[in-house]
Amino acid sequence: MLKVNDLHACYGESEIISGVDLQVDEGKVVCLLGRNGVGKSTFLKSIMGHVRTPSGTIEFNGSRIEKLAPHKRARAGIGYVPQGRDIFPQMTVRENLLLGLEVRGGKGDVEHRIFELFPVLKDMLGRMGGDLSGGQQQQLAIARALVAQPALLILDEPTEGIQPSIIQEIGRVITRLKKEGNMMIFLVEQYLEFVLDIADYCYVMEKGRIVLDGAMGELSVDEIKKRIAI
Ligand code: ATP
Ligand code: MG
Repeated sequence: MLKVNDLHACYGESEIISGVDLQVDEGKVVCLLGRNGVGKSTFLKSIMGHVRTPSGTIEFNGSRIEKLAPHKRARAGIGYVPQGRDIFPQMTVRENLLLGLEVRGGKGDVEHRIFELFPVLKDMLGRMGGDLSGGQQQQLAIARALVAQPALLILDEPTEGIQPSIIQEIGRVITRLKKEGNMMIFLVEQYLEFVLDIADYCYVMEKGRIVLDGAMGELSVDEIKKRIAI
């Protein structure tokens, strides 16, 4: 379980996250929605340790992690796919995937399962990451995070700028991981329709605070839309 309590996060002197409480339970898909610039990515970065968090706590699977260095949080079982598909364009797809193993000390193999989830990557192992389409790069970034077999997968706007057919494929992968039931998934989105079907619970952020949260089936979609409409 991931449990965030009264978290504050800053860039220099400016506070971006102002007292967020949030929880992701075992086997659940939880989403964080919000307009541009409200602090969604900053919140994810604060979970990973890339931003200063002067106060608040982050508990992950029973341990407090808010003081740990980023690589230790990754090693504790948190896989993070940043916004904008952060793959290595000058490395092959195979090399990008192998990097995913580094979290576990470089040991093990890229499992067969990765290619079941993302068949397109199997045909492109020798191709440069930078030569893949945007959607394929997003799939590669997610696959690389999965190679490390995280207990919690964090995705920052996986559908941003991606063609509809690949959005559907990514949705299928998330649904499948959820069905397998042994992974928590926490995703940031602005594309509401994408998360309506796959998320169990939803939080809405405005100006660094949670202004609405609830089980996906119980929240009013109109209420969510009002809060994320531009
Ligand atoms: P988007 O939907 O556009 O991705 P977001 O909700 O993820 O937006 P953040 O990227 O977390 O928003 O940004 C929140 C605020 O923090 C914005 O005002 C942004 O300008 C500011 N910010 C982001 N990164 C930095 C940084 N490295 N240094 C200073 N301020 C930053
Ligand atoms: Mg963002």
